[in-house]
Amino acid sequence: MEPCCDLQHWEAVLEKIAEDCEKSDRDIDELLVLPVTKGFDYQLVRTAWEFGFRTFGENRVAEYLEKRQALSEHPAASANWHMVGHLQSKKVKKIIGEFDLIHSFDRHSLVDEFNRRQTANDPVQKILLQVNISGENSKYGIEPEKAPALLEAVLNSEHLWPVGLMTMAPWTDDKSVIRKTFAGCRTLRDGLAEKFDIALPELSMGMTNDYQIAIKEDATILRLGRLFFGERD
Ligand SMILES: *Cc1c(COP(=O)(O)O)cnc(C)c1O
Repeated sequence: MEPCCDLQHWEAVLEKIAEDCEKSDRDIDELLVLPVTKGFDYQLVRTAWEFGFRTFGENRVAEYLEKRQALSEHPAASANWHMVGHLQSKKVKKIIGEFDLIHSFDRHSLVDEFNRRQTANDPVQKILLQVNISGENSKYGIEPEKAPALLEAVLNSEHLWPVGLMTMAPWTDDKSVIRKTFAGCRTLRDGLAEKFDIALPELSMGMTNDYQIAIKEDATILRLGRLFFGERD
């Protein structure tokens, strides 16, 4: 059995996540466990669909479009897809109406590009603001001080709708740093929701290495690749 497609392992991972949730007085049913299928081909998505997953995360537009095409004859074609990776402005026109949620909305030029490309017939695009809480973890994500202006621009655009925040913790073994990052993201979310008087229910935080900490800090979406599917090439 290829490590990617070991269904018993997937069951065990879900049970483990459910236990981790219980320890934090949370219910796995209030979380979206988002399998990130990047780096694996469409056959993995097919197997994961048959297993019961209905929403998948991808981090590159070209790879997503290829898989989507390869799946067109399969029920998995009707899956929900989330874009979790950095989104180049020039790719926006290719993904209008494709993703149920974009996690990586991190700059004003994306607002402009969506406004330019979306038509009245296109569904409203739900997005998460990706924020760079720790200031060091990544070149992507907007600085927390600049998040209010970006959120305002999103709210002013007709076809975009913000539903929460996404962040990535720095690569470190220091759990307190990771925890502070996730807690900072939640605090920022709470402040923005109050300032703009809107609901921002979603917190996309936690990957294979740090999802247990994210659960403790009220994550609502866990983005998990290697935990389910093993190492990517
Ligand atoms: C690849 C990826 C993930 C999943 O990472 P794992 O460490 O494999 O769980 C989550 N979020 C983003 C943005 C990714 O690119």
